[in-house]
Amino acid sequence: MNSPAYVIPKERRSTGQEIHRIVVVGGGAGGLELVTQLGDSLGRSKKAQIILVDKSATHIWKPLLHEVAAGSMDPSAHQLEYVAQARWHNFEFYQGAMMDVSRDEKCLRVAPVLDENQNPILPERVIPYDTLVLAIGSVTNFFNVPGAEKHAMAVDTVIQAETIRRRILSACMRSQSGAFLSADAPVKKVHLVIIGGGATGVELAAELRNTAEVLAAYGLHKLDPQKDVQITLVEAGPRILPPLPEKISIETTRLLGYLNIDVMTGDRVTQVTPDAVLTASGKSLPSDLTVWAGGIRVPAVLHEMGLETNGIGQIIVSNTLQSVSDKNIFAFGDCAACAWGDSGKIVPPRAQAAHQQASTLVKSMHRLLAKKSLPVFTYRDYGSLISLGNYEAVGNLMGRMVGRSVKIQGFLARMLYLSLYRNHQMALHGFFRMAVDALVDWLRHNTKPRVKLH
Ligand SMILES: Cc1cc2nc3c(=O)[nH]c(=O)nc-3n(C[C@H](O)[C@H](O)[C@H](O)COP(=O)(O)OP(=O)(O)OC[C@H]3O[C@@H](n4cnc5c(N)ncnc54)[C@H](O)[C@@H]3O)c2cc1C
Repeated sequence: MNSPAYVIPKERRSTGQEIHRIVVVGGGAGGLELVTQLGDSLGRSKKAQIILVDKSATHIWKPLLHEVAAGSMDPSAHQLEYVAQARWHNFEFYQGAMMDVSRDEKCLRVAPVLDENQNPILPERVIPYDTLVLAIGSVTNFFNVPGAEKHAMAVDTVIQAETIRRRILSACMRSQSGAFLSADAPVKKVHLVIIGGGATGVELAAELRNTAEVLAAYGLHKLDPQKDVQITLVEAGPRILPPLPEKISIETTRLLGYLNIDVMTGDRVTQVTPDAVLTASGKSLPSDLTVWAGGIRVPAVLHEMGLETNGIGQIIVSNTLQSVSDKNIFAFGDCAACAWGDSGKIVPPRAQAAHQQASTLVKSMHRLLAKKSLPVFTYRDYGSLISLGNYEAVGNLMGRMVGRSVKIQGFLARMLYLSLYRNHQMALHGFFRMAVDALVDWLRHNTKPRVKLH
């Protein structure tokens, strides 16, 4: 790697021997759990040096982003500083986007970090590794639909989710301000179009209906949240929630109808313009805000590593989560394609899968250092839960918990949905702090407006 960048030197024991260095790139749903647990064990006992690299300074659990976009969650209350977590759990953190990897020299290059005026805060760095674990997640796939990347918003980061929230708020305020100018003037309708009837699209649609109702209660009194805010969910396939059993899809469609959300299935989006969404059947849906929630792909940086990848750029890994092209490189979570048993499918890109893979990799790293054979990853599908905001949650439980797929709904589904985030917090902080955080969240929920207004 020919570069003048600063090289992060390896740690050595008092004997002069280098300590094995495990570098994890991506501190998301899977990566942060992994480094926390490795830091607590191998890092604390100095059996290995654990390093996390992430392009951001703070972590947020990605499944919360649709609530941030709808304004029903204040992200600042749920973001975790990587440097603090590193200090508490015996790992090192380097902020910066991974730019490339030299597999021959076993090192990766991390981009400089710039301030808002593009002045460097941190220089470009080179980090040598003994074992590399890639967990950089996925980004929205716009499938080259004309105008989509330019005119539709994605929900991949806190910044994007906050932009969506601000735009919805502005659109609703603009719509009611017209009605103030003349008492007879009707409130101009606000059109929100969500593309993609998967879990993210469905959850966002329901959450936005809740937002409209809260905004109407918090001062936008001329806005009828049901009639004046039109929400349309567009899905190319024959039904929403394609990976879930059909009965859940039918029930969810019914519940969305009850929330006055138009569900359009079997119609592919062919173009997105600044104020409309055009579909293959010739429809033109007016849109004040278009959100694209219709598929994922892996960030381009992984394509240049020379590892075997699939059509959406996921690194193909064996059942030990090692790249089939390079055994020193592990990959997991959304950025990896791991076979799901003999089903012929790959493990789905879910927080649940990233969590399970992180647990397997903790064991793998211990065994790797002990020069023992690596454990095989087996994905257990415990089912899926779809939150319909404050209104409902639906889903199915599967596998060992119930022995077969069982539809659940209502309070139980809502509680299980909320427990997913608490599980993640428990993996990061332990039971006591998770419980305190849950209590603080509950208190905050009861003392702040239900929607973040500014
Ligand atoms: C709105 C939304 C709702 C969702 N809801 C659910 C749900 O209810 N249940 C569920 O199971 N799943 C849900 N998912 C999917 C779930 O969030 C992902 O499957 C999960 O986060 C994947 O975990 P990961 O660790 O692979 O990646 P991520 O959690 O995406 O983390 C990737 C990390 O890599 C970092 N990174 C990216 N590129 C670089 C780079 N070049 N250099 C350094 N760092 C980099 C990012 O900053 C990030 O911290 C949802 C996703 C979205 C977007």
